[in-house]
Amino acid sequence: MTLQERDKKHIWHPLKQHQTHPNSLGIVKAKGCILTDEHGYEYIDAISSWYTCMFGHCNDYINNRVYEQMQQLDQIMFSDFTHPAAVELSEKLIAILPENQAKIFFNDNGSTAVESAIKMALQYYFNKEDQRTTLIAFENGFHGDTFGAMSASGLSVYNGPFEDFLINIHRIPVPDGTNHSAILAQLETIISNHKVAAFVYEPIVQGAAGMKIHDMNGLNEIIGFCKSKNVLTIADEVMTGFGKTGKNFASDHIQNKPDIICLSKALTGGLVPMAITSCTQEIYDAFLSNDITKGYFHCHTYSANPIGCAAAIASIDLLTSDKIQGSIQKIAKRHEQFSEKIKKHPKVKSTRNIGVIFALDLDTNMERYGTLRDLLLSSFMKEGVFLRPLGNTIYIQVPYVITDTQLEKIYTTIEKVLDTL
Ligand SMILES: *Cc1c(COP(=O)(O)O)cnc(C)c1O
Repeated sequence: MTLQERDKKHIWHPLKQHQTHPNSLGIVKAKGCILTDEHGYEYIDAISSWYTCMFGHCNDYINNRVYEQMQQLDQIMFSDFTHPAAVELSEKLIAILPENQAKIFFNDNGSTAVESAIKMALQYYFNKEDQRTTLIAFENGFHGDTFGAMSASGLSVYNGPFEDFLINIHRIPVPDGTNHSAILAQLETIISNHKVAAFVYEPIVQGAAGMKIHDMNGLNEIIGFCKSKNVLTIADEVMTGFGKTGKNFASDHIQNKPDIICLSKALTGGLVPMAITSCTQEIYDAFLSNDITKGYFHCHTYSANPIGCAAAIASIDLLTSDKIQGSIQKIAKRHEQFSEKIKKHPKVKSTRNIGVIFALDLDTNMERYGTLRDLLLSSFMKEGVFLRPLGNTIYIQVPYVITDTQLEKIYTTIEKVLDTL
């Protein structure tokens, strides 16, 4: 029996309607940018396995650092103890995060990083005896699948059955360069009529919405406005963090800095799940008290797992190296050139790119999990490239270590598949 057949017996996959999509391809190996399936076919991982493996799969430098850690310390309760890898990681992160960030809180995954950020914001005001009950978020944002994170998310495909159970939220449009005065007016109304704790946003690029890119000046004004009204700002950099937009963090492009930042995905270079919620000194200080219950009583069993910390330390070493910084800029330039070219394709409505992220919208209506999307995905796979369309968007987010030839192959595959439509 193949892996695919054995899988069907006991496994329930995420984001899947098993009745119409019963099959999951068995992948048995991944190295650098190449995935190998159980039949020996190879695929270029053009989306870095959901934006995680930015330094390539099974990266030797990260693996070695993790292997050393495994000989030394595997797991320790973080509520009572600390350890060298967590301390070193906190120092490395604070050195590269926006300069207002002062404290590092550990979580397990992107959703809980956001969950934690929302709880911090709510308790920040609770501790100040100014209880607030409402959040603001962008339309079509995605922040994860736990209840708080889901509340902030605006993609109804994922939230439908749970809408009645979510935290109060008011949605505003993303800034497109023409609408920010209208957005500020809307914010003014929301903030004066409700007790708003925080504004949660994906800075500059909305990933799950189809790599939608915002107007940076508009975003800067929105953040500034929230700050002027005492609304905390939470940047969900789970997707954008660690170099994707051409800078270490998307917030580095924006003058107004967030109070809280959520990180995961590329944090460990894809090796193990881990996440961080960082915050300013001011937020941390609001939890200091002789009253124990004013502390932040949120914890995950594997908080600051030493193996995860080791992988993150090695990933940050790589990210900040001249070599990787150079590759990011090089990939950005090549995306720019590809964008100019593919824009003229009759099936392409528009293109956009920032850093290593490139996206094009097809000039056709496409359901998020419909048949055209399935056809495209399988056509790309037949050509040996793993690309996963989102709605009518085809996007690329390649590992920083991709070779010129591999990148060229992704571009020509997209052109070839579009020609068949
Ligand atoms: C993926 C993602 C999340 C959720 O992270 P998980 O690790 O899948 O829980 C949250 N926010 C953004 C912006 C993401 O891209």
